[in-house]
Amino acid sequence: MDARLAVWAVSDANSRGRRYAEAAPATRSQFQRDRDRIIHCTAFRRLEYKTQVFINHEGDLFRTRLTHTLEVAQIARSLARALNLNEDLVEAISLAHDLGHTPFGHAGQDALNECMQDFGGFEHNIQSLRTVDLLEEQYLAFRGLNLCYETREGILKHCSHKKARELGELGERFLLGLQPSLEAQICNLADSVAYSNHDVDDGLRAGLLTLEQLGQVDLVARYLHEVRTSYPDASGKSLVHEVTRRMINAQVVDLIEQTRRNISQAGIRELQDVHKATALVAFSAQMQTDQLQLQQFLRDNLYWHYQVLRMMAKGRRIIHDLFDAFSVDVRLLPPMYQTMAHEDKARAVADYVAGMTDRYAAREHHRIFGSSPSGD
Ligand code: MG
Repeated sequence: MDARLAVWAVSDANSRGRRYAEAAPATRSQFQRDRDRIIHCTAFRRLEYKTQVFINHEGDLFRTRLTHTLEVAQIARSLARALNLNEDLVEAISLAHDLGHTPFGHAGQDALNECMQDFGGFEHNIQSLRTVDLLEEQYLAFRGLNLCYETREGILKHCSHKKARELGELGERFLLGLQPSLEAQICNLADSVAYSNHDVDDGLRAGLLTLEQLGQVDLVARYLHEVRTSYPDASGKSLVHEVTRRMINAQVVDLIEQTRRNISQAGIRELQDVHKATALVAFSAQMQTDQLQLQQFLRDNLYWHYQVLRMMAKGRRIIHDLFDAFSVDVRLLPPMYQTMAHEDKARAVADYVAGMTDRYAAREHHRIFGSSPSGD
């Protein structure tokens, strides 16, 4: 047992293990093995060409799903190390948390969810789990990556009661109202710290947001003032970076301090106590308010910016068209998906379309329809 781990951390010793038994790794922990399996899987490499907010080909400097994922892993590991939690597990969950995202960001997910309306819907976190459990074809002994229960629990994040009943062991905690591990909780918050800060940076870089506008957000205003006081001549990229790095640091430190208080107040003594408590990884009340204000600002001014919505409209059309074309003729699907289509056609088509990168989806659309949906 790793001496740095808190007794309530997930460890190899208290793990619920893998679905298919395997010999323990010789030199790595079980969760290092999970992390390594994720890095070597196909869906992980595709993250490089999937949209985070800005369509992949809009510019080379914006975050992609891959760079977003790496930022989440960095923040989650910092939190885990400071809280004596399992750093390998948070790294594995973080690296896998967006594997199920469709091409074209949230517009793609909304479009695929519309297509799947009569067939059980489409949710990216459930798709991330399907990807590691079922869709990755790497091993001869089992389908998927055969990850540990705790990694899969963290990837699933949340689901409906109906879905939970279908998921068996992994769905139990939703029916019983239990919390996931602290490591899983860390990854959820690291995700929102990462995207709310890098979207500020990308929004400014794209010229869709201005620093003046961002001054309405308390968290930004606080650090903008601090940087301008220390460096009155600061401008451009370094000014933005100096502000966002302070915001990330403030959020990370706040999370660590508040979580320590929560763990101590809840009287946590072992892993089981974590499951029975309320969510313990949390911002202070003040930081929670600040974070919600920032996210609301980003929704109103960036995610719903007409130029972003225009980029997204094309993505939605591509997803709808591809879903319809493959549903009409499943012979257009690669062999693995054709086999899956015998059991559940709509789900097999959704699996295939969800796995595409932005540019692959656009190319497939062109190949099948001969023109892009916007006519260019
Ligand atoms: Mg994410």
